Amino acid sequence: MPGSTRSAGAHEEEDETMDDLSGRVALVSGGSRGIGAAICSELAAAGAVVAVNYRSSAAAATQVCGDIQAAGGRAQAFAADVGDPRQAAALVASVTESLGSVDILVHNAGLQHTAMAHKMSDQQWDEALAVNLSAAFYLSRAALPAMRAAGSGCVVFVASASGSVAQVGAAGYVAAKHGLIGLTKALALESANKGIRVNAVSPGITDTDMVADLDERAKAGLLARVPLGRMASPEEVAATVAWVIRGASYSTGNVFHVSGGVAM
Ligand code: NAP
Repeated sequence: MPGSTRSAGAHEEEDETMDDLSGRVALVSGGSRGIGAAICSELAAAGAVVAVNYRSSAAAATQVCGDIQAAGGRAQAFAADVGDPRQAAALVASVTESLGSVDILVHNAGLQHTAMAHKMSDQQWDEALAVNLSAAFYLSRAALPAMRAAGSGCVVFVASASGSVAQVGAAGYVAAKHGLIGLTKALALESANKGIRVNAVSPGITDTDMVADLDERAKAGLLARVPLGRMASPEEVAATVAWVIRGASYSTGNVFHVSGGVAM
């Protein structure tokens, strides 16, 4: 039932699969563009009330919310740099105040700098670690207490094939995504006895701005490594994220690859 608000007894009535997300509050970091925008649409279509986080693309986030509302769903945009611990905590607090406590956390925001390690600046390294890895910790630290109190919840980190296999020219990104998979396992282990599942979804090369920003040679090099021979669409990745939330009721601490065969 899109557009409904969660009732006080929702947690007691829920089934383990989260098959129907009606009234669940889902926070998606980096929901304004690319894979994150597709995840927002997919979760809203399943009935979730979606908090669309963005850092600087206010117009894009507003568009995502408008599209969801036009389809009969419910969404609200929230600005925050999730790589900043204070802003990440404040984001979870304002989503909770505006929409209700966070039932589903998807940390999707990410960025990649292209530079060989011996030429990588402190700023590029720090930013790669902050947005791709530390933000997942900051957001989880803020959202987990309410999930633990409720005895349920679902966390999905959008990692990358680069979290399992290395890539040239992106040492900060590769290190952060490997770390994100470690964090997935650690939080899954800590949270399982509270009914909370924590998993990672690892896309391969996907048709978004992140890839459009690469030069043609780098893009061709990445595509040459894909057994399925093409990029994923954001919707293909979003469908897997939604399935992990709605259907994978006995999976926690796992990595679900959507990489066209790059990581196997
Ligand atoms: P994208 O099109 O570049 O979009 C990035 C999103 O992250 C935007 O919504 C952006 O917000 C947001 N963001 C970046 N830094 C942020 C910050 N500090 N705080 C809050 N939001 C921030 O990227 P994408 O391709 O959709 O990637 C989404 C995720 O998939 C990332 O984690 C990425 O590593 C992963 N991934 C992508 C690919 C690929 O080939 N595209 C492959 C593997 C993994 P603004 O709009 O406000 O800038």
